[in-house]
Amino acid sequence: MAERKEVYLGYSTDKAITPFFQKFLEALESGKLMKSKCTKCGAEYLPPRQHCQKDMSDCDLIEFTEREAKLYSYVIVDFAPASLSSKQPYIVAIGEFPSGLRLTAHITNPMGPPTVGMPLKLAFENQDKMATYKWLV
Ligand SMILES: [Zn+2]
Repeated sequence: MAERKEVYLGYSTDKAITPFFQKFLEALESGKLMKSKCTKCGAEYLPPRQHCQKDMSDCDLIEFTEREAKLYSYVIVDFAPASLSSKQPYIVAIGEFPSGLRLTAHITNPMGPPTVGMPLKLAFENQDKMATYKWLV
C-alpha cells in the first residue's frame, strides 16, 4: 500500500518540479515568500508563476515582503477531503495586501466568525519537509 501523506495547503520540499519552483521552495523553507514579475509587461503573481498569464513571457522571482493583509473573501469548509478531515471545519481565506496582490491560505487560529475587511497577518510553517504559509488573525 502506498504511503499516504497529509497535504495541508503546503508544499513538499523534497520534490521540486522545476528550477523555478525549487527556488520558490527554498525561499519558503527559510520563511520567505516569493512573488514573480513578468520581464515584459511587469505583471506580478502571488504565488509566483513562471510564465506571464497575459503574454507568456518569463517571470523573475522577487521576494515578497508584505505581511499585513485584509480579508478579501473566505469559505468555511465543513466537508473536507479525507486528507484534511481532521481539520474540519476550517477556513480558507483570500487576503489582499496593500499592493493589491492576493493570496489564498488557511486561517489557522480563528477567534470567531471571519469578517470581510478584518486584518490578517501572514505567517510561515515548516514541518517534516512541508513548508507552507498561513493567515493568523
Ligand atoms: Zn507579461
